[in-house]
Amino acid sequence: MITKTAPTCGEHQKPKEWRTTTFEYSDEGITIRIPNVPAWVCPDDDEASFTPDTVDELIATVSELIETAKRARQRRSVLTEYIVAVG
Ligand SMILES: [Zn+2]
Repeated sequence: MITKTAPTCGEHQKPKEWRTTTFEYSDEGITIRIPNVPAWVCPDDDEASFTPDTVDELIATVSELIETAKRARQRRSVLTEYIVAVG
């Protein structure tokens, strides 16, 4: 249950909506895209605010996936995209 009040978007002065968004991270030519992340999202520009717990999970997940992608690049793998789902 979400009992906290919605944060306001500083740019649009509108309350953000609790829904899912896609988190994207790019570094050294590697892009990690994580869909269906729950977050507070601005209805105008889709700017997301993640809760601290979610940020911790995103950092851990992204760092693991980056390592996997870098190893694949080192061995010049023909596989350049992966879709992973849990549950
Ligand atoms: Zn906004």
